[in-house]
Amino acid sequence: MRALLLSDIHANLEALTAVLEVVPEHDVVWNLGDVVGYGANPNEVIDCVRQLGNTFVRGNHDRACCGLSDVSDFNPIARRAARWTRAMLTEEHTQWLQSLATGPIQPDGPTVTCVHGSPLDEDQYLLTVRDAWQPLCQSETRINFFGHTHVQGGFATNGEEWFRLAPQYGTRDQFESYEMDLRDGARYMLNPGSVGQPRDGDWRAAFALYDDQAHTVTFYRVPYDVHLAQTRILSAGLPDRLAIRLRDGR
Ligand code: ZN
Repeated sequence: MRALLLSDIHANLEALTAVLEVVPEHDVVWNLGDVVGYGANPNEVIDCVRQLGNTFVRGNHDRACCGLSDVSDFNPIARRAARWTRAMLTEEHTQWLQSLATGPIQPDGPTVTCVHGSPLDEDQYLLTVRDAWQPLCQSETRINFFGHTHVQGGFATNGEEWFRLAPQYGTRDQFESYEMDLRDGARYMLNPGSVGQPRDGDWRAAFALYDDQAHTVTFYRVPYDVHLAQTRILSAGLPDRLAIRLRDGR
């Protein structure tokens, strides 16, 4: 089985479109949350991802944009974007966001866990080995996929040592992939990266493919029409910072 992993699309239609033009053959799509928030095309992006499959965990922005949680813990820019998104969403899309599962979920039986933040807390950011240690030790499965940090890569342990995993790429402006073997017995916490608002210094849209027969996860980066995404954010009256950060990948 080959699972396409998408996370943190954040209503960026240009990035999602570019990803879908290059995705390799796959059997299922697992979406790790934050379909909306920040970007200018929440309704179009929801329409698109719903056609791809029905395995989703909700993100904190999904929750805030459909009114399931308030925006008081968001920074002022995220808050403005969430309020704008809430006003723009159709009733049907609002209800769809409200229906999304709270992670963790196990979309392929007791082999793989999918979460937005962490298996222990859907809002937790796993940015360091120290953050990942407890969730990875306590998760029910050996292989775990998460989002939320917008940083592609993740963490692994063989029981003795801990590793930070980051795909190695040769460029910053072309389509590239990086294949990683999953070793027997090791435990993994892996982030496909953010489709619509990367924060790892690389502006290209990120995603990943998990192959349970080949025992691999392949990470991808795809250039997209970032200028158009920025123009749409500015024309929508969303904060400038949301447009600027896309090109910086921060
Ligand atoms: Zn996010």
